[in-house]
Amino acid sequence: MTLDHRLPEELEELRRTVEAFAHHVVAPKIGEYYEQHAFPYEIVQEMGRMGLFGLPFPEEYGGMGGDYLALGIALEELARVDSSVAITLEAGVSLGAMPLYRFGTEEQKREWLPKLCSGEMLGAFGLTEPDGGSDAGATRTTAVRDGDEWVINGSKCFITNSGTDITGLVTVTAVTGRKADGSPEISSIIVPSGTPGFTVAAPYSKVGWNASDTRELSFADVRVPAGNLLGEEGRGYAQFLRILDEGRIAIAALATGLAQGCVDESVTYAKERHAFGKPIGANQAIQFKLADMEMRAHTARLAWRDAASRLVHGEPFKKEAALAKLYSSEIAVDNAREATQIHGGYGFMNEYPVARMWRDAKILEIGEGTSEVQRMLIARELGF
Ligand SMILES: Cc1cc2nc3c(=O)[nH]c(=O)nc-3n(C[C@H](O)[C@H](O)[C@H](O)COP(=O)(O)OP(=O)(O)OC[C@H]3O[C@@H](n4cnc5c(N)ncnc54)[C@H](O)[C@@H]3O)c2cc1C
Repeated sequence: MTLDHRLPEELEELRRTVEAFAHHVVAPKIGEYYEQHAFPYEIVQEMGRMGLFGLPFPEEYGGMGGDYLALGIALEELARVDSSVAITLEAGVSLGAMPLYRFGTEEQKREWLPKLCSGEMLGAFGLTEPDGGSDAGATRTTAVRDGDEWVINGSKCFITNSGTDITGLVTVTAVTGRKADGSPEISSIIVPSGTPGFTVAAPYSKVGWNASDTRELSFADVRVPAGNLLGEEGRGYAQFLRILDEGRIAIAALATGLAQGCVDESVTYAKERHAFGKPIGANQAIQFKLADMEMRAHTARLAWRDAASRLVHGEPFKKEAALAKLYSSEIAVDNAREATQIHGGYGFMNEYPVARMWRDAKILEIGEGTSEVQRMLIARELGF
């Protein structure tokens, strides 16, 4: 039997559709949103109409009936052009809607998923706290049961999609009790936007992802119905580990797209820009940089598709997801640095897409588990 890494026709068609959308709709407009640090509602609305927010969900909940491979294909094509738009989709699907789909009751799924799948509403996932993100078990936010309600107190930081005009909910992790050994019991609870006591700060001023929404959240005696508990009480830790494992595949696809976008832009520029009487791309020093960039993007693509394929086929994928996330995020930074170098001074000018890619690459080594955390996970899978 041969290994066939080519995409089946329906995924290739999706890839072409998103590629065309990214080039014709995102590329001409995104620079201005980015410069103004504005959320691109118009583009996100169009992505919703295309069904991108519903890609990996069943049709009965308003989804497209696809899977994580389909989501990865869409993320890669978007990030080839722009990462703010891609992370809005990634966080909306992997962090906003997926916890509800994986762990929600039938009633919760029917209430929230159709709106999240259509893109008319965005969901967010609040795990990270000001005192620490990597050590997620050290959550300090608390939720105490009072009659038929949970009363939530605490804060979350760096939460994507949490404060847009179309944000409808944030799923937060909170300590809901203590286990027999004294360690915290963590649960996930759905908090609808606008619940009294739930405050969303102004957007952060960030180095990159400037057209994506990231905010700090605070909870002061926030009361939500007991029925807003996501899945079983005390299962929050296991839930977010699963969500992050899957999310890493999506981030790896996004990072691959950024790495490939750097190749696309640099090949074009190297053919056009002249120095010493010839295109800079006629120099082997530049060609070798481009060859290495292409090699890295290609290898990253194989890595995320392998992890996604394992997930889709119900096989263990934890190590492969960490490998893909670690490799693709580090090579995205490498490719962005080289792309800027190939563009010379213009690469430092915001009007050039590679400048945006350079700003957007670094966070990929940090979000959804830092590179150190990925190495810890891989080492653990190796038996350490
Ligand atoms: C733009 C943006 C969007 C984000 N979106 C979300 C979101 O939607 N939801 C959400 O919950 N979070 C989100 N995050 C948070 C992100 O996941 C965390 O920033 C990340 O997990 C790292 O946590 P931290 O920032 O607290 O760093 P820390 O955990 O404080 O780590 C600091 C440094 O120490 C290293 N380190 C920590 N422990 C160890 C160890 N044991 N061994 C070796 N090194 C170690 C880390 O690798 C890192 O280099 C976002 C962050 C950003 C910047």
